Amino acid sequence: MNLNPRVESFSLLPGSQTTLTAHNDPAGAEGLSVLAPRWKGATLVALGIGLTSAGHYLTPPEQRLWHGIFQHLYYLPVVYAGVAFGWVGGLIAGGVSALLYLPHILMAWSGERHYAVEQYVEILIFVAVGLVTGILSDLERKRRLELLQTAEKLRTANAELQNTFEHVKRADRLSAVGQLAAGLVHEIRNPIASIDGAAEVMQAAAEPEEFRVETMEIIRKECGRLNRLLTNLLDFARPRNPEWGPVKLERLLASVGELVKHSAPSGIQVAVECAHPLPELSGDEEQLAQVVLNLAINAIQAMPEGGEVRLEAIESSGRIEIIVRDEGTGIAPEHLERIFDPFFTTKDTGTGLGLSVAHQIVRQHGGSISVELNPVAGTTFRVVLSRAVSQPA
Ligand code: ADP
Repeated sequence: MNLNPRVESFSLLPGSQTTLTAHNDPAGAEGLSVLAPRWKGATLVALGIGLTSAGHYLTPPEQRLWHGIFQHLYYLPVVYAGVAFGWVGGLIAGGVSALLYLPHILMAWSGERHYAVEQYVEILIFVAVGLVTGILSDLERKRRLELLQTAEKLRTANAELQNTFEHVKRADRLSAVGQLAAGLVHEIRNPIASIDGAAEVMQAAAEPEEFRVETMEIIRKECGRLNRLLTNLLDFARPRNPEWGPVKLERLLASVGELVKHSAPSGIQVAVECAHPLPELSGDEEQLAQVVLNLAINAIQAMPEGGEVRLEAIESSGRIEIIVRDEGTGIAPEHLERIFDPFFTTKDTGTGLGLSVAHQIVRQHGGSISVELNPVAGTTFRVVLSRAVSQPA
Protein backbone atom coordinates (compact mmCIF):
# COMPACT_ATOMS: atom_id res chain seq x y z
CA MET A 1 0.00 0.00 0.00
CA ASN A 2 1.33 3.41 -0.92
CA LEU A 3 1.24 5.62 2.14
CA ASN A 4 2.62 8.61 0.37
CA PRO A 5 -0.26 10.94 -0.30
CA ARG A 6 0.52 14.27 -1.80
CA VAL A 7 -1.82 16.99 -0.53
CA GLU A 8 -1.91 19.87 -2.93
CA SER A 9 -4.25 22.42 -1.44
CA PHE A 10 -6.97 22.93 1.10
CA SER A 11 -8.61 25.95 2.55
CA LEU A 12 -11.67 26.80 4.62
CA LEU A 13 -11.52 30.50 3.79
CA PRO A 14 -14.44 31.82 1.76
CA GLY A 15 -13.53 32.65 -1.77
CA SER A 16 -10.40 30.62 -1.72
CA GLN A 17 -9.75 27.26 -3.32
CA THR A 18 -11.65 24.62 -1.38
CA THR A 19 -10.37 21.58 -3.20
CA LEU A 20 -8.70 18.73 -1.45
CA THR A 21 -6.57 16.77 -3.86
CA ALA A 22 -4.96 13.61 -2.65
CA HIS A 23 -2.86 11.49 -4.96
CA ASN A 24 -2.26 7.80 -4.45
CA ASP A 25 -4.56 7.80 -1.49
CA PRO A 26 -7.34 5.26 -1.41
CA ALA A 27 -9.18 6.98 1.47
CA GLY A 28 -9.07 10.36 -0.20
CA ALA A 29 -10.08 8.99 -3.56
CA GLU A 30 -12.94 7.09 -1.98
CA GLY A 31 -14.26 10.28 -0.43
CA LEU A 32 -14.15 12.36 -3.62
CA SER A 33 -14.72 9.86 -6.40
CA VAL A 34 -18.50 9.76 -5.79
CA LEU A 35 -18.66 13.45 -6.73
CA ALA A 36 -18.28 14.69 -10.29
CA PRO A 37 -15.43 17.08 -11.23
CA ARG A 38 -15.99 20.70 -10.10
CA TRP A 39 -17.42 22.12 -13.32
CA LYS A 40 -19.71 19.14 -13.81
CA GLY A 41 -20.82 19.39 -10.19
CA ALA A 42 -21.58 23.09 -10.58
CA THR A 43 -23.57 22.38 -13.76
CA LEU A 44 -25.55 19.65 -11.98
CA VAL A 45 -26.40 22.02 -9.12
CA ALA A 46 -27.44 24.81 -11.53
CA LEU A 47 -29.54 22.40 -13.57
CA GLY A 48 -31.21 20.98 -10.45
CA ILE A 49 -32.13 24.41 -9.11
CA GLY A 50 -33.18 25.71 -12.57
CA LEU A 51 -35.41 22.72 -13.39
CA THR A 52 -37.05 22.74 -9.97
CA SER A 53 -37.81 26.46 -10.27
CA ALA A 54 -39.15 25.95 -13.80
CA GLY A 55 -41.40 23.23 -12.39
CA HIS A 56 -42.87 25.75 -9.94
CA TYR A 57 -43.41 28.48 -12.53
CA LEU A 58 -44.92 26.13 -15.14
CA THR A 59 -47.32 24.35 -12.77
CA PRO A 60 -50.65 26.07 -11.91
CA PRO A 61 -50.81 27.16 -8.20
CA GLU A 62 -53.80 24.92 -7.46
CA GLN A 63 -51.72 21.77 -8.05
CA ARG A 64 -50.40 21.87 -4.49
CA LEU A 65 -49.12 18.31 -4.55
CA TRP A 66 -46.68 19.06 -7.39
CA HIS A 67 -45.55 22.28 -5.75
CA GLY A 68 -44.86 20.34 -2.53
CA ILE A 69 -42.72 17.89 -4.50
CA PHE A 70 -40.78 20.65 -6.37
CA GLN A 71 -40.23 22.51 -3.11
CA HIS A 72 -38.57 19.46 -1.54
CA LEU A 73 -36.60 18.77 -4.73
CA TYR A 74 -34.59 21.97 -4.07
CA TYR A 75 -32.83 20.12 -1.23
CA LEU A 76 -31.06 17.76 -3.63
CA PRO A 77 -28.89 20.36 -5.43
CA VAL A 78 -28.46 22.36 -2.21
CA VAL A 79 -27.14 19.36 -0.22
CA TYR A 80 -25.00 18.30 -3.19
CA ALA A 81 -23.47 21.77 -3.40
CA GLY A 82 -22.72 21.73 0.35
CA VAL A 83 -21.01 18.35 0.10
CA ALA A 84 -19.06 19.17 -3.06
CA PHE A 85 -18.13 22.81 -2.50
CA GLY A 86 -18.22 23.31 1.27
CA TRP A 87 -20.08 26.00 3.16
CA VAL A 88 -19.59 28.62 0.44
CA GLY A 89 -21.14 26.31 -2.17
CA GLY A 90 -23.98 25.26 0.15
CA LEU A 91 -24.77 28.88 1.05
CA ILE A 92 -24.79 30.00 -2.61
CA ALA A 93 -26.99 27.08 -3.72
CA GLY A 94 -29.44 27.63 -0.80
CA GLY A 95 -29.53 31.40 -1.47
CA VAL A 96 -30.09 31.03 -5.24
CA SER A 97 -32.87 28.48 -4.64
CA ALA A 98 -34.51 30.89 -2.19
CA LEU A 99 -34.19 33.86 -4.60
CA LEU A 100 -35.65 31.90 -7.52
CA TYR A 101 -38.52 30.52 -5.49
CA LEU A 102 -39.38 33.82 -3.70
CA PRO A 103 -41.09 35.58 -6.68
CA HIS A 104 -43.26 32.53 -7.22
CA ILE A 105 -44.47 32.68 -3.59
CA LEU A 106 -45.23 36.37 -3.98
CA MET A 107 -47.04 35.81 -7.27
CA ALA A 108 -48.96 32.64 -6.51
CA TRP A 109 -49.71 32.67 -2.81
CA SER A 110 -49.69 36.28 -1.60
CA GLY A 111 -53.42 35.89 -1.00
CA GLU A 112 -52.93 32.84 1.24
CA ARG A 113 -51.07 34.36 4.15
CA HIS A 114 -50.67 31.20 6.19
CA TYR A 115 -49.33 29.09 3.29
CA ALA A 116 -47.06 31.92 2.12
CA VAL A 117 -45.45 32.21 5.61
CA GLU A 118 -44.76 28.47 5.53
CA GLN A 119 -43.01 28.92 2.17
CA TYR A 120 -40.89 31.85 3.47
CA VAL A 121 -39.75 29.69 6.36
CA GLU A 122 -38.95 26.88 3.90
CA ILE A 123 -36.67 29.11 1.80
CA LEU A 124 -34.79 30.11 4.95
CA ILE A 125 -34.37 26.40 5.63
CA PHE A 126 -32.84 25.97 2.11
CA VAL A 127 -30.11 28.39 3.08
CA ALA A 128 -29.62 26.79 6.53
CA VAL A 129 -29.40 23.27 5.07
CA GLY A 130 -26.85 24.37 2.45
CA LEU A 131 -24.76 26.11 5.10
CA VAL A 132 -24.83 23.26 7.66
CA THR A 133 -24.14 20.57 5.04
CA GLY A 134 -21.23 22.64 3.73
CA ILE A 135 -19.76 23.15 7.21
CA LEU A 136 -20.03 19.43 8.01
CA SER A 137 -18.45 18.57 4.68
CA ASP A 138 -15.61 21.05 5.31
CA LEU A 139 -15.00 19.52 8.74
CA GLU A 140 -14.90 16.06 7.20
CA ARG A 141 -12.47 17.27 4.55
CA LYS A 142 -10.29 18.85 7.21
CA ARG A 143 -10.30 15.62 9.21
CA ARG A 144 -9.33 13.65 6.14
CA LEU A 145 -6.51 16.07 5.42
CA GLU A 146 -5.25 15.65 8.97
CA LEU A 147 -5.34 11.88 8.52
CA LEU A 148 -3.34 12.18 5.32
CA GLN A 149 -0.81 14.40 7.04
CA THR A 150 -0.53 11.97 9.95
CA ALA A 151 -0.02 9.11 7.49
CA GLU A 152 2.70 11.15 5.79
CA LYS A 153 4.38 11.86 9.13
CA LEU A 154 4.21 8.17 10.04
CA ARG A 155 5.74 7.26 6.71
CA THR A 156 8.61 9.69 7.25
CA ALA A 157 9.14 8.42 10.80
CA ASN A 158 9.12 4.86 9.53
CA ALA A 159 11.70 5.68 6.84
CA GLU A 160 13.90 7.40 9.44
CA LEU A 161 13.61 4.41 11.76
CA GLN A 162 14.56 2.08 8.93
CA ASN A 163 17.54 4.27 8.17
CA THR A 164 18.70 4.29 11.77
CA PHE A 165 18.28 0.54 11.95
CA GLU A 166 20.46 0.10 8.86
CA HIS A 167 23.11 2.34 10.43
CA VAL A 168 23.09 0.33 13.65
CA LYS A 169 23.34 -2.91 11.69
CA ARG A 170 26.28 -1.59 9.70
CA ALA A 171 28.01 -0.36 12.87
CA ASP A 172 27.40 -3.74 14.45
CA ARG A 173 28.95 -5.53 11.50
CA LEU A 174 31.97 -3.24 11.52
CA SER A 175 32.44 -3.80 15.22
CA ALA A 176 32.21 -7.60 14.70
CA VAL A 177 34.84 -7.40 11.95
CA GLY A 178 37.05 -5.31 14.25
CA GLN A 179 36.74 -7.85 17.05
CA LEU A 180 37.48 -10.69 14.67
CA ALA A 181 40.60 -8.96 13.34
CA ALA A 182 41.83 -8.14 16.87
CA GLY A 183 41.35 -11.76 17.97
CA LEU A 184 43.09 -13.04 14.88
CA VAL A 185 46.11 -10.79 15.33
CA HIS A 186 46.42 -11.95 18.91
CA GLU A 187 46.14 -15.61 17.93
CA ILE A 188 48.70 -15.38 15.12
CA ARG A 189 51.20 -13.32 17.07
CA ASN A 190 51.77 -15.97 19.76
CA PRO A 191 52.83 -18.84 17.48
CA ILE A 192 54.91 -16.45 15.36
CA ALA A 193 56.76 -15.31 18.49
CA SER A 194 57.40 -18.96 19.42
CA ILE A 195 58.63 -19.80 15.92
CA ASP A 196 60.84 -16.71 15.90
CA GLY A 197 62.32 -17.60 19.29
CA ALA A 198 62.92 -21.18 18.21
CA ALA A 199 64.62 -20.09 15.00
CA GLU A 200 66.86 -17.77 16.99
CA VAL A 201 67.86 -20.63 19.27
CA MET A 202 68.66 -22.79 16.27
CA GLN A 203 70.84 -20.08 14.83
CA ALA A 204 73.18 -20.46 17.80
CA ALA A 205 75.07 -23.41 16.33
CA ALA A 206 76.62 -24.23 19.68
CA GLU A 207 73.37 -25.80 20.95
CA PRO A 208 73.50 -29.59 21.41
CA GLU A 209 71.66 -31.79 18.91
CA GLU A 210 69.00 -32.84 21.45
CA PHE A 211 68.09 -29.21 22.09
CA ARG A 212 67.81 -28.53 18.37
CA VAL A 213 65.35 -31.44 17.96
CA GLU A 214 63.23 -30.04 20.75
CA THR A 215 63.26 -26.61 19.12
CA MET A 216 62.24 -28.09 15.78
CA GLU A 217 59.32 -29.74 17.52
CA ILE A 218 58.21 -26.39 18.89
CA ILE A 219 58.32 -24.92 15.40
CA ARG A 220 56.29 -27.77 13.95
CA LYS A 221 53.76 -27.59 16.77
CA GLU A 222 53.27 -23.88 16.29
CA CYS A 223 52.99 -24.27 12.52
CA GLY A 224 50.35 -26.95 13.09
CA ARG A 225 48.48 -24.59 15.37
CA LEU A 226 48.58 -21.80 12.79
CA ASN A 227 47.33 -24.23 10.19
CA ARG A 228 44.44 -25.33 12.40
CA LEU A 229 43.61 -21.75 13.19
CA LEU A 230 43.45 -20.80 9.51
CA THR A 231 41.36 -23.88 8.60
CA ASN A 232 38.91 -23.16 11.41
CA LEU A 233 38.88 -19.51 10.50
CA LEU A 234 37.94 -20.32 6.92
CA ASP A 235 35.13 -22.56 8.18
CA PHE A 236 33.95 -19.77 10.38
CA ALA A 237 34.31 -16.86 7.98
CA ARG A 238 33.08 -18.62 4.86
CA PRO A 239 30.69 -21.30 6.03
CA ARG A 240 29.39 -23.28 3.11
CA ASN A 241 25.66 -23.85 2.90
CA PRO A 242 24.52 -27.24 4.15
CA GLU A 243 24.08 -29.85 1.46
CA TRP A 244 20.77 -31.28 2.57
CA GLY A 245 20.26 -34.97 2.58
CA PRO A 246 19.12 -37.75 4.89
CA VAL A 247 21.34 -38.10 7.96
CA LYS A 248 21.67 -41.42 9.74
CA LEU A 249 22.50 -40.30 13.25
CA GLU A 250 23.31 -43.75 14.51
CA ARG A 251 26.03 -44.13 11.89
CA LEU A 252 27.25 -40.58 12.40
CA LEU A 253 27.70 -40.97 16.17
CA ALA A 254 29.35 -44.38 15.78
CA SER A 255 31.94 -43.09 13.33
CA VAL A 256 32.76 -39.99 15.40
CA GLY A 257 32.95 -42.24 18.49
CA GLU A 258 35.43 -44.55 16.74
CA LEU A 259 37.53 -41.62 15.57
CA VAL A 260 37.91 -40.03 19.00
CA LYS A 261 38.35 -43.40 20.72
CA HIS A 262 41.49 -44.02 18.71
CA SER A 263 42.97 -40.59 19.21
CA ALA A 264 42.02 -40.25 22.91
CA PRO A 265 44.73 -40.71 25.54
CA SER A 266 44.51 -43.81 27.68
CA GLY A 267 42.19 -43.48 30.66
CA ILE A 268 39.39 -42.05 28.51
CA GLN A 269 36.39 -44.14 27.59
CA VAL A 270 34.06 -43.21 24.79
CA ALA A 271 30.46 -44.46 24.94
CA VAL A 272 27.90 -44.08 22.15
CA GLU A 273 24.19 -44.51 22.74
CA CYS A 274 21.43 -43.96 20.24
CA ALA A 275 17.70 -44.21 20.86
CA HIS A 276 16.08 -46.73 18.54
CA PRO A 277 14.29 -46.17 16.27
CA LEU A 278 15.30 -42.57 15.70
CA PRO A 279 13.55 -40.43 13.08
CA GLU A 280 15.63 -39.74 10.03
CA LEU A 281 17.13 -36.30 10.04
CA SER A 282 17.49 -33.98 7.10
CA GLY A 283 20.78 -32.08 7.08
CA ASP A 284 24.39 -32.02 6.00
CA GLU A 285 25.94 -35.20 7.41
CA GLU A 286 29.52 -33.99 7.07
CA GLN A 287 28.82 -30.70 8.84
CA LEU A 288 26.87 -32.36 11.65
CA ALA A 289 29.71 -34.85 12.11
CA GLN A 290 32.07 -31.88 12.43
CA VAL A 291 29.85 -30.43 15.18
CA VAL A 292 29.86 -33.69 17.16
CA LEU A 293 33.59 -34.11 16.60
CA ASN A 294 34.36 -30.60 17.88
CA LEU A 295 32.25 -31.24 20.99
CA ALA A 296 33.84 -34.66 21.57
CA ILE A 297 37.39 -33.31 21.20
CA ASN A 298 36.61 -30.56 23.72
CA ALA A 299 35.15 -33.16 26.07
CA ILE A 300 38.31 -35.27 25.89
CA GLN A 301 40.54 -32.24 26.34
CA ALA A 302 38.55 -31.32 29.46
CA MET A 303 39.48 -34.65 31.11
CA PRO A 304 43.26 -34.66 31.60
CA GLU A 305 42.80 -37.13 34.45
CA GLY A 306 40.66 -39.50 32.38
CA GLY A 307 36.93 -40.25 32.50
CA GLU A 308 34.04 -41.04 30.17
CA VAL A 309 32.69 -39.14 27.16
CA ARG A 310 29.13 -40.06 26.19
CA LEU A 311 27.71 -39.33 22.76
CA GLU A 312 23.93 -39.73 22.77
CA ALA A 313 21.05 -39.13 20.41
CA ILE A 314 17.45 -39.12 21.61
CA GLU A 315 14.08 -37.97 20.36
CA SER A 316 12.25 -35.50 22.53
CA SER A 317 8.89 -33.92 21.62
CA GLY A 318 9.37 -34.40 17.89
CA ARG A 319 12.87 -32.99 17.96
CA ILE A 320 16.21 -34.74 17.91
CA GLU A 321 18.79 -34.06 20.58
CA ILE A 322 22.45 -34.89 20.23
CA ILE A 323 24.10 -34.86 23.64
CA VAL A 324 27.83 -34.82 24.37
CA ARG A 325 28.53 -35.32 28.07
CA ASP A 326 31.89 -35.45 29.83
CA GLU A 327 33.25 -35.81 33.35
CA GLY A 328 35.87 -33.13 32.92
CA THR A 329 36.82 -29.89 34.61
CA GLY A 330 33.61 -28.09 33.73
CA ILE A 331 33.43 -24.45 32.69
CA ALA A 332 33.99 -21.51 35.02
CA PRO A 333 30.74 -19.49 35.41
CA GLU A 334 32.41 -16.33 34.12
CA HIS A 335 33.40 -18.17 30.92
CA LEU A 336 30.01 -19.72 30.21
CA GLU A 337 28.72 -16.73 28.28
CA ARG A 338 31.81 -16.44 26.14
CA ILE A 339 32.58 -19.98 25.03
CA PHE A 340 30.70 -19.58 21.71
CA ASP A 341 32.54 -16.32 20.92
CA PRO A 342 35.14 -16.62 18.18
CA PHE A 343 38.70 -16.84 19.56
CA PHE A 344 37.62 -17.43 23.12
CA THR A 345 39.84 -20.16 24.46
CA THR A 346 41.31 -21.19 27.79
CA LYS A 347 43.74 -23.61 26.18
CA ASP A 348 47.39 -22.87 25.43
CA THR A 349 47.11 -24.25 21.93
CA GLY A 350 43.42 -23.60 21.38
CA THR A 351 42.03 -21.52 18.52
CA GLY A 352 38.74 -20.66 20.18
CA LEU A 353 36.88 -21.41 16.96
CA GLY A 354 35.62 -24.98 17.52
CA LEU A 355 32.42 -23.98 19.30
CA SER A 356 31.85 -20.93 17.07
CA VAL A 357 31.94 -23.17 14.00
CA ALA A 358 29.65 -25.72 15.69
CA HIS A 359 27.22 -22.97 16.65
CA GLN A 360 27.16 -21.61 13.11
CA ILE A 361 26.50 -25.02 11.56
CA VAL A 362 23.71 -25.82 14.00
CA ARG A 363 22.11 -22.43 13.35
CA GLN A 364 22.21 -23.07 9.59
CA HIS A 365 20.34 -26.30 10.29
CA GLY A 366 17.63 -24.34 12.10
CA GLY A 367 18.64 -25.82 15.45
CA SER A 368 20.14 -24.66 18.71
CA ILE A 369 23.12 -25.56 20.83
CA SER A 370 23.35 -25.11 24.58
CA VAL A 371 25.61 -26.02 27.45
CA GLU A 372 24.97 -26.96 31.05
CA LEU A 373 27.21 -27.96 33.91
CA ASN A 374 26.73 -31.48 35.25
CA PRO A 375 25.66 -31.76 38.91
CA VAL A 376 28.72 -33.79 39.89
CA ALA A 377 31.45 -33.09 37.34
CA GLY A 378 31.93 -32.04 33.77
CA THR A 379 29.76 -30.49 31.11
CA THR A 380 26.88 -31.43 28.84
CA PHE A 381 26.46 -29.92 25.38
CA ARG A 382 23.05 -30.33 23.78
CA VAL A 383 22.31 -29.84 20.09
CA VAL A 384 18.59 -29.68 19.31
CA LEU A 385 17.48 -30.18 15.71
CA SER A 386 13.90 -30.15 14.57
CA ARG A 387 14.21 -31.26 11.00
CA ALA A 388 12.95 -34.77 11.46
CA VAL A 389 11.50 -35.65 8.08
CA SER A 390 10.26 -39.21 8.36
CA GLN A 391 10.15 -42.19 10.64
CA PRO A 392 12.34 -45.10 9.60
CA ALA A 393 10.39 -48.15 8.45
P1 ADP B 1 39.22 -24.31 21.72
O1 ADP B 1 38.86 -25.73 21.96
O2 ADP B 1 40.16 -24.11 20.59
O3 ADP B 1 39.62 -23.57 22.94
P2 ADP B 1 36.38 -23.98 21.42
O4 ADP B 1 35.60 -22.90 20.75
O5 ADP B 1 36.12 -25.35 20.97
O6 ADP B 1 37.88 -23.55 21.22
O7 ADP B 1 36.15 -23.89 22.98
C1 ADP B 1 36.19 -22.64 23.63
C2 ADP B 1 36.41 -22.83 25.10
O8 ADP B 1 35.25 -23.42 25.69
C3 ADP B 1 37.51 -23.78 25.47
O9 ADP B 1 38.78 -23.15 25.46
C4 ADP B 1 37.10 -24.20 26.87
O10 ADP B 1 37.48 -23.23 27.84
C5 ADP B 1 35.61 -24.21 26.83
N1 ADP B 1 35.07 -25.56 26.63
C6 ADP B 1 34.52 -26.06 25.51
N2 ADP B 1 34.10 -27.33 25.70
C7 ADP B 1 34.38 -27.63 26.97
C8 ADP B 1 34.19 -28.80 27.79
N3 ADP B 1 33.61 -29.91 27.31
N4 ADP B 1 34.59 -28.73 29.06
C9 ADP B 1 35.16 -27.65 29.57
N5 ADP B 1 35.38 -26.50 28.85
C10 ADP B 1 34.99 -26.49 27.57
